[in-house]
Amino acid sequence: MLALTDHDELKGLPAAREAAAHWGLRLIDGVEISVLWEEVTLHIVGLALDPQQTALVEGLAAVRTGREQRAQRIAQSLDAIGIPGTLEGARRYAKNPELVSRAHFARYLVEAGQAPDTNAVFRRFLTPGKPGFVPHQWPTLAEALGWIHGAGGIAVIAHPGRYDLGAAQCDRLLEEFVALGGRAVEVVTGSHAPDEFVTWARHARRFGLLASAGSDFHGPGEGYRDIGSVPALPAGCEPVWTLF
Ligand SMILES: [Zn+2]
Repeated sequence: MLALTDHDELKGLPAAREAAAHWGLRLIDGVEISVLWEEVTLHIVGLALDPQQTALVEGLAAVRTGREQRAQRIAQSLDAIGIPGTLEGARRYAKNPELVSRAHFARYLVEAGQAPDTNAVFRRFLTPGKPGFVPHQWPTLAEALGWIHGAGGIAVIAHPGRYDLGAAQCDRLLEEFVALGGRAVEVVTGSHAPDEFVTWARHARRFGLLASAGSDFHGPGEGYRDIGSVPALPAGCEPVWTLF
């Protein structure tokens, strides 16, 4: 069994379904949605959803357009103060040219000699009140879970160990996620160290959440783990795939 969960995008599912049928695998339709929660960008995975469902399809299209428009507005704002070509420059630093973030702009501004390092970039540019600041337009946690649930899917917090959350904030996130109907947390992932498997297995049990495992595979040679090579879930976890 394998789920394809591309970022804010469902269009790879038909090809994945065909390949899965060829190899005798069961494919679970999925997606990974970026959301803004308490100023932290989180990734929420939706599993076993209906990829035709209108609110989900339209919501994801709006996220993708918002991302590109934001990058263009950042570039326009920098152009207006005499720093041209930043969108093209930032795009070169983005693994996926459609997912250009402030970090990519920051790296290009260093390359262009506008600041000695990226910390200095964020003191002069790209932050509130400074040139190149364009507010985030990501959906909220409630919106993303609404799209996933509206499409009949199961919501999972992706690679939770990667977010910079204190203990209290972490508990608030898990409480809010459960209250919104979220069902699972990614315990084993290519972006967790082995001790984080144990930590997140404990959080999952504390909040009555199911556990998932993901490779965070982005392409040959790009992921931390190859597909199918993630370790087993720690003992005591209830796997999310018991639902499928
Ligand atoms: Zn992610």
